Amino acid sequence: MTFSELNLIEPLLQALQEEGYTTPTPIQEQAIPPVLNGDDLLGCAQTGTGKTAAFSLPLLQRLHEAGPAHPAKAIRALILTPTRELALQIGDSINAYGRYTKIKYTVVFGGVGQVPQVEQIKRGVDIVVATPGRLLDLMNQGLLSLKHIETFILDEADRMLDMGFIHDVRKVIAQIPAHRQTLLFSATMPQEIQKLSASILRDPVYVEVTPVSSTAEKIAQKVYFVDKTTKRALLKHLLKGEEIQRALVFSRTKHGADRIAKELSKAGISAQSIHGDKAQSTRVKALTQFKNNELKALVATDIAARGIDVDDLTHVINVDLPNEPETYVHRIGRTGRAGAEGMALSFCDDTELPYLRDIEKLTKQTIPVEEDQPFHVDYAKLPLAGGKATDKAARRSAGGGGQSQGPRGGGQGGNRRPEQRRSGGQNSGGGRTEQRQGSGSSRSGGGRNSGSGRNPR
Ligand code: AMP
Repeated sequence: MTFSELNLIEPLLQALQEEGYTTPTPIQEQAIPPVLNGDDLLGCAQTGTGKTAAFSLPLLQRLHEAGPAHPAKAIRALILTPTRELALQIGDSINAYGRYTKIKYTVVFGGVGQVPQVEQIKRGVDIVVATPGRLLDLMNQGLLSLKHIETFILDEADRMLDMGFIHDVRKVIAQIPAHRQTLLFSATMPQEIQKLSASILRDPVYVEVTPVSSTAEKIAQKVYFVDKTTKRALLKHLLKGEEIQRALVFSRTKHGADRIAKELSKAGISAQSIHGDKAQSTRVKALTQFKNNELKALVATDIAARGIDVDDLTHVINVDLPNEPETYVHRIGRTGRAGAEGMALSFCDDTELPYLRDIEKLTKQTIPVEEDQPFHVDYAKLPLAGGKATDKAARRSAGGGGQSQGPRGGGQGGNRRPEQRRSGGQNSGGGRTEQRQGSGSSRSGGGRNSGSGRNPR
């Protein structure tokens, strides 16, 4: 499936190409056609699935095709989102995807002066991306009207609920014309959200991209406890062995993917990396080589791997564990297709133990630990209260002071798991948010300060 097969118009296709998007993600495949068609939509999807583009692209297309607003300067679409960070990210995405359209947008959120936001609205915008508090504030001051809204998008509805915004959301909705298109996205569907959906959506199309955790049951899995510094050495060790003919290797970062591929090549293992910063032609070439068995390893980031469909892939190797357990299921689901025997190997350093715990919770299974490897670190023997750290990782996780995080089952050996620390990576959605915010800020530049933006053309 390509974006043009989804009937997106040329100005959007052009922008997507420049963004390096080659294949729509599953939520985009499922959501774009009905939203283009004007249907209401209930989307069960979380951050990281590509949901922003899933609603922004058809929204931009519909506004572009409808021509200028009537009356002039009327706000035609509202995207409500719980946090300022999300609002800014959505603004950045609209800016990027809509750069070849004339659609204007602004971002409205609290904690900063309202004047620049109000000025932007006065000049006329088609889309407002907002957090509920500031939006209500502006509405109450008569500075912003929702009476011409044609499309309303409620993003991260369950988080709105968690953050106590649901009453504000209802107040906002009460001001939007009943005759409209409504899209509601939520990672989970608690009863309160189901009730809200039932009251605001009309005959919605339902799309869901939460992975089925049962995929994981068919695939043999192993975890390798290893220090962060020896992960690449372990990878080389495994790939030099005979058991693995061809592996899709996952790295959390683009930089990491490049480094891994380079190091493998140096060690005489044919490898290439693919990620969003690589030209499409380079990615296609690497993928073709991989499919033709000319590469032993293809090192990919999660997004770059979305388009990869290799039937007889026998091994997936996670050099980094993803901070979202669903991503793990997606990754390992690439192996074991079409009757092939799948095997997923994951490296886990001490900082990734909370991710491993989340993965095991989601997949409802304990992943066996492979101890028979040269870089094994026995976490189960690590920091005991007042005890001595047995290796580098132990010293690091003990913070040099030997503080115990709780009973670790010292001396038990075997596959016993330590009590996994809760520090870091807890709120996996939050972690991802921060990463992307970082990359977004360089793109939007000064627009961030005023909280508003305008498509250049
Ligand atoms: P989201 O779930 O909307 O927060 O998107 C997650 C990340 O995936 C963002 O950094 C997007 O830029 C990126 N992304 C979304 N759709 C695609 C796609 N079809 N191809 C490549 N990257 C994408």
